[in-house]
Amino acid sequence: MVMKKTKLRKRKGLSRRSKGTIGTLKEKLWIVFSVYIRNRDKKCVTCGGGAENAGHYIHNTERLSCYGGNELWYSEQNINAQCVRCNKWKSGNLTKYAEYLESVYGQGILQELRKKYLLPKKWKREELQELLERYKNLNE
Ligand SMILES: [Zn+2]
Repeated sequence: MVMKKTKLRKRKGLSRRSKGTIGTLKEKLWIVFSVYIRNRDKKCVTCGGGAENAGHYIHNTERLSCYGGNELWYSEQNINAQCVRCNKWKSGNLTKYAEYLESVYGQGILQELRKKYLLPKKWKREELQELLERYKNLNE
């Protein structure tokens, strides 16, 4: 009985710690990833304006939560440079965004992204770490 309690406490402690670490990793990764995207595109993909934001085609409002998630969180296809006007004021300027994606990736890309969006994915610490290193290097 006593051993069980200890085990339980240990497990709780571990999950609390890993929660924090993964959350921090996701935030760090988002920062370097969005820099990479803005450098890659150099201008707003939906109007040709400035590349102030990394804008989602399909939004992931739950990106910073520790659990859940999907394949699109750090997708180079789903996330592209946008100006503040298109990303914020025009909520992504999605009609133009769809046209842009189809012109770059071809017909079917929207369905493909939708499919990935619906595919649950639990991001692992190692994966996030790897991506963080990858985009850090690419940004140098
Ligand atoms: Zn724009």
